Amino acid sequence: MRNVVIVGSGCAGNTAALYAARANLQPLVVGGHEPGGQLSLTTLVENFPGFPEGIDGPVLVENIKKQAERFGAEYRHGSVIEADLARRPFRLNIDADWVEAGAVIIATGASARWLGLPSEQRMIGHGVSSCATCDGFFYRGKKIMVVGGGDSAMEEAIFLTRFGSEVSIVHRRDEFRASRIMLDRARANPKIKWITSAAVDEVLDGGSGVVTGVRLRSLKDGRVWEQEVDGFFLAIGHIPNTAVFKGQIELDSDGYVVAKGGAKTSVEGVFHAGDVQDRIYRQAITAAGAGCMAAIEVERFLEAQGH
Ligand code: NAP
Repeated sequence: MRNVVIVGSGCAGNTAALYAARANLQPLVVGGHEPGGQLSLTTLVENFPGFPEGIDGPVLVENIKKQAERFGAEYRHGSVIEADLARRPFRLNIDADWVEAGAVIIATGASARWLGLPSEQRMIGHGVSSCATCDGFFYRGKKIMVVGGGDSAMEEAIFLTRFGSEVSIVHRRDEFRASRIMLDRARANPKIKWITSAAVDEVLDGGSGVVTGVRLRSLKDGRVWEQEVDGFFLAIGHIPNTAVFKGQIELDSDGYVVAKGGAKTSVEGVFHAGDVQDRIYRQAITAAGAGCMAAIEVERFLEAQGH
């Protein structure tokens, strides 16, 4: 029986682990299927306070983990595949090993969204990617396409111009939800071409099993055309990782955890931290802050239980 199990090891989970460990709660952290979370997929983070020159995302999240371990947090590889939050102690199935917990912090984040085309799914890792930082290197001198109109699409497209001969941004509208500064940076980049009000109907491989192009369709006049592409990157948002908690705690229609004040969820003793609940700010610093809040609430909750 653990005092607290923290599910997820991104910025939110690791910060929760740090605070819980320093409160002498010896937290168990379940790493999850994307250990390190979104920060582990980024390069330079320039907006985390305290690093005037910026810091690499993977280094930042690993540092928080080491800091938590220093105070007694225990990390376990694997994922929670089933949860029983109906009564206390809570029970979590970690890759076929059931663990009991007095309190739970859900910090499972949100994962990349895909278009869902069969051709796209078939070629993940063969020209289709959701992570420019991970895969951009493979497209040196090649033609790259990025789908999306948010900050991620701008950031990834700008990053990919380091590698590609050209980078096309495909967006389904002709207005962008990306912030002004990111949009202006992308617009100022001569390597970036813009295809707006268009949808991707198919990722093409010419029978090779590797991306060779895409079929696009104008959402204004229905015109269909093909474009040669070697690397096809998705930057169309994220889906919260809450499938295992469905029916156990209150989730909204998109699957995000519904906050019940502070870090509380609909189940007493189960708390949330980070992007799994936050669809607005989604920053490393807000996730870290949320992790801190969740750990403090766990501490108070367990104390009230006579821990
Ligand atoms: P986002 O803001 O939700 O944008 C997702 C984009 O993908 C939207 O343009 C959306 O189009 C498009 N999209 C969604 N589903 C689609 C589909 N099925 N087919 C085609 N297009 C689709 O997601 P994000 O860009 O990942 O950003 C998430 C949050 O992180 C935001 O708050 C953002 O500001 C923040 N962020 C910040 C930075 C930074 O400051 N450096 C970098 C990255 C992310 P519509 O616009 O038509 O809905």
